[in-house]
Amino acid sequence: MIDDPTVIIKFKRISKLMHILNWFCSVLEFICFNKIDLNFMNRETTVGETIYLGLRWQKYSTLNRKAILAHEYEHILQWRKWNILYIMSYYLFLPLGLSFRGYWEWQAFKAQLLIQKEKTYKVNLDIMVNYYTNVLTGSKYFFALWIIKPLFKKVVKKFIYKNFKELKYGN
Ligand SMILES: [Zn+2]
Repeated sequence: MIDDPTVIIKFKRISKLMHILNWFCSVLEFICFNKIDLNFMNRETTVGETIYLGLRWQKYSTLNRKAILAHEYEHILQWRKWNILYIMSYYLFLPLGLSFRGYWEWQAFKAQLLIQKEKTYKVNLDIMVNYYTNVLTGSKYFFALWIIKPLFKKVVKKFIYKNFKELKYGN
């Protein structure tokens, strides 16, 4: 699905690195009194040029797989372009309610959404706007854009209304 020979795709469950990172995530969840749920092993993660597929990968539809790979590939492009600046801005300054992580993730979500658009059924645009605003301002992304939630919601709304208008349902 990704036409780029340098990209490596692996399963998370057979990666020692991912099991170690999962342990750190569990510790972090424990420290936060389990108020956050990082759901690490189930999610896809990209490190450098390698995409690690989560435990639910085999249950996803072909379209969802394509959309997720578009998301992760965007992170590879960010890494190629910005290198250490990308890593530092992605992982540092957490969790302050505003971090560059939100910017990088929103770029990746846009790539993912444009693939998901291939779905034939209609969508309620406002539900979609709320969903993606909440994902990127919530605990899964360390509240990366929480402080600017109303402003970020406008950004999400503009993108979704522009790109999904022909699939509009209800609202
Ligand atoms: Zn991402």
